[in-house]
Amino acid sequence: MVSRVIPVDPFDLVVFGGTGDLARRKILPGLYRRFRDGQMPQQARVIAAARSDMDEAAYRAEIRAAIEEYIAPRHRDADTLDAFLSRVGYCAVDADGQDGWPGLAARMRPDVVRAFYFSVAPALFGSLAERLHDHGIADAQSRIVVEKPFGNDRASARALNETLAAYFDETQIYRIDHYLGKETVQNLMAVRFANILFEPLWNAQFVDHVQITVAETVGVGGRGSYYDGAGAMRDMVQNHLMQLLCLIAMEPPHRFEPDAVRDEKLKVIRALDPVAPGDIVRGQYAAAGGMTGYLEDVSNPASRTESYVALRVHVSNWRWKGTPFYLRTGKRLRARSSEIAVTFREPPHSIFGEDASWRENVLIIRLQPNEGIKLRVMIKEPGPGGMRLVNVPLDMSFAQALGPEGADIPDAYERLIMDVIRGNQTLFMRGDEVEAAWAWTDPVIAGWESRGERPCRYDAGTSGPEDALMLMHRDGRRWREIAP
Ligand code: NAD
Repeated sequence: MVSRVIPVDPFDLVVFGGTGDLARRKILPGLYRRFRDGQMPQQARVIAAARSDMDEAAYRAEIRAAIEEYIAPRHRDADTLDAFLSRVGYCAVDADGQDGWPGLAARMRPDVVRAFYFSVAPALFGSLAERLHDHGIADAQSRIVVEKPFGNDRASARALNETLAAYFDETQIYRIDHYLGKETVQNLMAVRFANILFEPLWNAQFVDHVQITVAETVGVGGRGSYYDGAGAMRDMVQNHLMQLLCLIAMEPPHRFEPDAVRDEKLKVIRALDPVAPGDIVRGQYAAAGGMTGYLEDVSNPASRTESYVALRVHVSNWRWKGTPFYLRTGKRLRARSSEIAVTFREPPHSIFGEDASWRENVLIIRLQPNEGIKLRVMIKEPGPGGMRLVNVPLDMSFAQALGPEGADIPDAYERLIMDVIRGNQTLFMRGDEVEAAWAWTDPVIAGWESRGERPCRYDAGTSGPEDALMLMHRDGRRWREIAP
């Protein structure tokens, strides 16, 4: 199967924070892959902008090293790497001051798409927008890409929306949530809305419950001071898990278009019930198996920030009344595994009798690793000896179904950056959506803060706190195993 690559229009993409971790690991390597696949046109250029004084040759050498580190040899070659790097420039700019801006302005070309990726600390988002405007660098067709976190609560998200709106129209603002760029997440929409099979069953009458898991093996790493001020609820649930929940729970949009999709997601967020204190479990990893504990990792022995959170969430509308959504995410868990599992109810009557060992139909949408979709169904166990049933997966792993191209899935950032150049906002969050997500999150956080709750301990390398098991056990359900 040959993948189709449609080149985008010529562009100047300025990556603010071009020397940072995200630019080195994801943005520039992703752009190289798009260039190598023929999607980035010859006339496209990338201009990295950051504070350090550095000449272009030094920056290119840095990016060459980054691409060699983060892209497997089979996906790169010397010729295309040279050709790509010849389109990469560097410009020293102070996001917070006046240095470098006239120089950047002079480099922008007319008649190409202008996009500006804000891959810097969130405190600089507002000043970047202001300076792009004041120096006449952005025009009415320009786009800005804003990284996470978008605010720390509803008030700060609203303030940031207002600041950006002073210089850019909403149609120019691309709030990135890289989960939406994941191929399987988009496939979730294809599975739901391009097939007749699932949608008639996609409601509380037929769906028993939904589990959304984003498990990481890493700890807080070098982001300790940011993370300790945020925690799993702000860092993961408010954005990534909430977006996944929206795509599962939303009504079919009338078209796969930005506002049609985002209107439906917004309705889901607004239909979320407040979370009861008994429906929340917070955890903090403790040193185990040679791994350090959270308190040590953030150098804050008194921290009450959660590195794990599990929630039972209800969507109060006709479609979902009575179907709980269980969300969990955490660091230093036993495996890196992100998936959505939609568990269907039992058939109303078993013609095979009581001992047919019936197990649920589950649709498993796996985001990482091994992206793919599985549907667990009952079949007859092969062989003579009566009607014994087994539960087996119908496996739609991309590598199997689509051949080598299926296994070589573009990284989420690649897809999303190309969408920015195309001017397609479908997979980006709208301002009101982000504010609504915070409006749901804020009282949950305020609740546990006012109750003075401490997160419970869980050993690093395990499945998380024991209490999280109870969250499901008491409903007669259980979490799926966290497995790679
Ligand atoms: P980083 O600290 O590694 O890099 C920051 C970059 O900003 C550097 O290039 C630095 O030179 C530049 N910078 C700092 N002050 C500046 C100034 N006054 N003027 C111009 N440039 C300045 O940060 P990062 O990890 O690359 O993260 C960048 C953004 O992406 C942040 O908003 C972060 O929250 C977000 N993000 C990062 C990751 C990740 O994996 N690193 C993941 C998700 C979101």
